[in-house]
Amino acid sequence: MLILVANLGSTSFKYRLFRMDEFGGEVIAKGGYERVTDYAEVIDEALDTLQRDGVIANPEAIDAVGFKTVLGKNLSGCVMADQAVIDALDGFTAVAPAHNPPYAAGIRQFAKSLPKARLVALFETAFYQWATDASVTYAVPASWRDIGIRRYGFHGASHKFIAERSAELCGREDVAEIARRLYLDGPQSVTGAPLRVVSCHLGGSSSVTGIRNGVAIGSSMGFSPQSGLPQNNRVGELDSGAIPYAMRTLGISLDEAERQLTKESGLLGLSGVSNDMRDIYVAAAAGNPAAQLALDALVHSIRHWTGAFHFELGGLDALVFTAGIGENGVAIRAAVCRGLEPFGIHLDAAKNAACGATEALISTDASAVKILVIPANEELVLAREVFRKLS
Ligand code: ADP
Repeated sequence: MLILVANLGSTSFKYRLFRMDEFGGEVIAKGGYERVTDYAEVIDEALDTLQRDGVIANPEAIDAVGFKTVLGKNLSGCVMADQAVIDALDGFTAVAPAHNPPYAAGIRQFAKSLPKARLVALFETAFYQWATDASVTYAVPASWRDIGIRRYGFHGASHKFIAERSAELCGREDVAEIARRLYLDGPQSVTGAPLRVVSCHLGGSSSVTGIRNGVAIGSSMGFSPQSGLPQNNRVGELDSGAIPYAMRTLGISLDEAERQLTKESGLLGLSGVSNDMRDIYVAAAAGNPAAQLALDALVHSIRHWTGAFHFELGGLDALVFTAGIGENGVAIRAAVCRGLEPFGIHLDAAKNAACGATEALISTDASAVKILVIPANEELVLAREVFRKLS
């Protein structure tokens, strides 16, 4: 099955074409465009390029297109990308203004350009659809809850992949199979011991997810991607009382407060140096206290959420690091694990130092909790889910 994974940003369109079968898949072409103003033009150009380069005989050869949609109003899961998906994205444009409009536009365009292909949307919130009401409900008036204000959780594709792969690496094929088929069959019971995992997706945007038997029990991210851990430029967790106080005291408008919290906060706001972890490391090593504070605040938040899920899961079998900082951040991983030996978490310093963006077990042999680094590959995750849904 030929599956095109479409990655749509507010001004970009990137794609990877996968050939998938039941044993896995491979990328057979990829490309992309920046500074996009018209999705119709670039999508048709991409299809022309694939044909001209001989990758496909004609556009009809593409069986399916997968979209990593972020947040839909009253809709989640891995679903056919039809008008209901477009309406759900439109309904939450105000919450995910950088993400929802490009996907709604992209789905519309692919429906025109590839009328025979099957279009599939995998919502980033999908992995959290079985979290308990108690864990996703904010204590706000009913009128707020009625308009969809609750915890959703994001990075669902990445964390679900971690659920599958960590189960395989823990020798739990039973749980791995449950995780793989989660969007087809829903959660399944496990005979024997549960498998309890905390997944740390640490990248430009970051979140921590607790996973029991392949199913998410919750996320550090809540209503919007503007929550949880300090993000690259986005604030993460913030007391709601701080916003009216800052607006009144600094004399700034709601739009300006939102701009500062989304563009000038997070690691950038804390460090005053950069939103990129590599720059922050360099500055901290050179003795910049603000950069050191940014690192420490990120680590504190990761530990906070890891501890919360560890407790709620009733123990831990695997602690997983993924995405840019998780895969490359030797010092961050060490700082997260420091002093956690009483909880059975023993990092092997040499294995940690030797691991760079490759899959690895970085705990000691004696560690009760496996500490794993698992590279993220969100396009492949998407292609797999689309293949599973359609086959
Ligand atoms: P996203 O896909 O969310 O944009 P990534 O998963 O690519 O993000 O992660 C980007 C982050 O990973 C950046 O903060 C970057 O500094 C960090 N990163 C990349 N390489 C390294 C490295 N060698 N050491 C530490 N952090 C790194």
